[in-house]
Amino acid sequence: MSGKQRMSLPAQMGIGMVLGVLAGALAPHVGFDPQWFKPFGQLFINLVRMVVVPLVFATLVAGAASVGDVGRLGRVAAKTLVYYFATTAIAIFIGLVLANLFQPGMGLDLSTANLKARDVTPPSLTQVLLNIVPINPMESLAKGSMLQIIFFAVLLGFSLSICGERVRVVTDFFNGMGEVMIRVTTIVMFYAPIGVFALMAFTVASHGLSVLLPLIKLVIIMYVACLLQILLVYLPCVKFSGLTPGRFLRGISEPLLIAFTTCSSAAALSTNLISVEKLGASRSVSSFSIPLGNTINMDGAAIYMGIAAIFAAEVYGIPMPLDKQFVVLLMALLASIGSMGVPGAALIMITMVFTQVGIPLEAIALVAGVDRIMDMARTTINVMGDATGAIFVSRLENDMDPARGAAMKI
Ligand code: ASP
Repeated sequence: MSGKQRMSLPAQMGIGMVLGVLAGALAPHVGFDPQWFKPFGQLFINLVRMVVVPLVFATLVAGAASVGDVGRLGRVAAKTLVYYFATTAIAIFIGLVLANLFQPGMGLDLSTANLKARDVTPPSLTQVLLNIVPINPMESLAKGSMLQIIFFAVLLGFSLSICGERVRVVTDFFNGMGEVMIRVTTIVMFYAPIGVFALMAFTVASHGLSVLLPLIKLVIIMYVACLLQILLVYLPCVKFSGLTPGRFLRGISEPLLIAFTTCSSAAALSTNLISVEKLGASRSVSSFSIPLGNTINMDGAAIYMGIAAIFAAEVYGIPMPLDKQFVVLLMALLASIGSMGVPGAALIMITMVFTQVGIPLEAIALVAGVDRIMDMARTTINVMGDATGAIFVSRLENDMDPARGAAMKI
């Protein structure tokens, strides 16, 4: 570092983001084809996604092996799941309340005549549950099927701890592999400022104000609901866990910036895992709860589904009494669990909600134009919800230690 203080990575990423917005706004005016930005952004997404499977697998096996007590594993799993369901339900509730109060679809004259529906048939619950158990764990790793990876890794780690000293070398291998993958993540993050720049430039250049303005009320309601979720749910949990809001937000700024710019919580997974550990979360809790949350805990997507359902019902003049809104809440909870951590996932899963309450699926095309802008907020909240969960459950397990996190050498 040659004596001079280097700017922190989140600050560099922040600058990349601002410059990206400017470049994206200017590009069309100077005749620059925004498509040029795209491969630079995609390179960043590929780099951060590359590390996810080996990092999660190694840290989770090592984490489960170090717990070694099936009772504790079960307790951590139960607390994590309760936290996920409760916070997601609150998220949908906040979205519904705001949408009812401010009625984003009222008085809107949007033509729905030429819209085409995209239907999705959700798999049955039995199928979803059966799918958690992989027939071939190698295939799950190759495909990145997160729930299957989690299932196998926990079982493997637990078996390692039963075998004890005889298999020490295997346990050490996974511990070492986890450490190496953390290092790989920090290396690929050097590219983050450029990646963030390119992603923002492309998004801004391809989503002009003309797309945004007719739906501006919907977008604002979404962002306000996300802010309320942070203020009313996450920050109190963070405070309970012994961190100040400032320290927490600074600590997870890298995954948040990745989420906001890539719209993919899968892309933010590795840095999220590392960031919460640096804040003091327990490795055995976070190596389980972060990848699990990445797959099933999507508070941002849930908020969005509640708001979009009310919006679409208003546009089509479909009454939404309280019992129907309760159905929206339940379906949005399920649909958010089924959403994947990739751009636009909630826009597809929302068909589950619309179908249940009789909203025509064509409504999806109404909001598709601003989906990227909404997805930025959704994904950020999806990721923040997982980070808060890891810290909160670590605290419930009396294993939250900011000093240990600060001492980590990464
Ligand atoms: N893009 C979101 C994510 O990756 C999913 C969604 O809400 O569409 O978490």
